[in-house]
Amino acid sequence: MAAKPTLPLRANRARMRREFGAQAAVGRHGETGLVRIALTPAYNRVRDMVRRWMEEAGLQTRVDAVGNLVGRREGRVKGLPAVMAGSHLDSQNPGGRFDGPAGVLAALEAVRRIGESGAPHDHPLEVVAFVGEESACGMTVFGSSVMTGVVGPKEMKRAVHPPTGKSMYEAVAAAGGNPARAASCVLPRRSLKAFVELHIEQGPVLEAKRVPVGVVDLVVGYARGKVIFQGVTAHSGGQPMPYRRDAAMAAAEFMVGMERIVRRAPARRRVTLTFGEVGVYPGWVSIVPGGATLSFDLRARSLATLKGVLGRMRGELARIGRSRKVAGRVAEVSILPPCPASPGVRRALIRGAAAAGSRWLPLPSGGVHDACRMAALCPMGMIFIPSVKGLSHTPEEFTHFRHLVQGTEVLAAALLQLADRRVKA
Ligand SMILES: [Zn+2]
Repeated sequence: MAAKPTLPLRANRARMRREFGAQAAVGRHGETGLVRIALTPAYNRVRDMVRRWMEEAGLQTRVDAVGNLVGRREGRVKGLPAVMAGSHLDSQNPGGRFDGPAGVLAALEAVRRIGESGAPHDHPLEVVAFVGEESACGMTVFGSSVMTGVVGPKEMKRAVHPPTGKSMYEAVAAAGGNPARAASCVLPRRSLKAFVELHIEQGPVLEAKRVPVGVVDLVVGYARGKVIFQGVTAHSGGQPMPYRRDAAMAAAEFMVGMERIVRRAPARRRVTLTFGEVGVYPGWVSIVPGGATLSFDLRARSLATLKGVLGRMRGELARIGRSRKVAGRVAEVSILPPCPASPGVRRALIRGAAAAGSRWLPLPSGGVHDACRMAALCPMGMIFIPSVKGLSHTPEEFTHFRHLVQGTEVLAAALLQLADRRVKA
């Protein structure tokens, strides 16, 4: 009979610190950054390193046909679905050392501590490192999209892997995978009981409120696309102002007008709106631009709010079109609906925080994560730990080690509960 677990399960800090330092050295960029794009040699090196740690911890490992790594610890009841935790090991170009690896190392330490403590668990426990979460590899949440059957060979052939200029399909093969067998990566329904991801917050709330752990209630949805303006190109000296149909001015009026509209929205319909790319054409100092394009990224807590703001955008374009005689239209819109965390997994995380003696806050996630894809397969939940100054996707990204440890202990306690067959996810 296994010894009774000592609760709370404390992380092995020295080991975590060592592993964190070792992973941060692979693909290091400057003093504190990382360039470790999925499907590159640096990425394979770190994945193999984490795989070795999993095996040393007694986990059974597998790497699927596109490069997702999973380590498994069997439960004491045969045939039950697994409780999975993890995140990603790839980075932005460049990114920081915490975005992704924090969640993989926390899951590894949590499952390893459960094993070492002798705590009994009915369900199997799995640690996952999804391949290619960051858009820098050519596809956002690539590995979890393949695992949930959203992306297959056709999509991989269409997407470009920026570091090599090859298609994602070719890049998977070059990295040692077998993209033609992507269907073999798809996890069967009912193979998972729950999925939990620990991630850095990538925002300022936890630090500002001095709370070490956030329990995510919902991952906000987004709408992305382009806005295209068509005016008339003209000579910058010859064309008097009243005669112009200047596409750049129309785009500027639209951007500022939309900012005013979304800033005025009531709290429950609050959104973030970003015009991250602006282009004017033909793009010369002495030419009145006849064309302009914007990219937009709009995020909100509800699909209705997303659609409402898209409607306001079209309204603004119509108004500006009439006053400036510049036609504007919204194009190439893609929508990802908001994704709520499951109440059962949230409950386990909240109890986990109590068991670990950690204060916590409910928080939405503004960023998209692999957890959103996994939500199609099983109940999902997320833990956030503080990002200093809210910074992420930059070498300046930083999270205090004590917060990583605290999050890991909350995760361990939550996983132990979810792995109890009497606990509903
Ligand atoms: Zn991430």
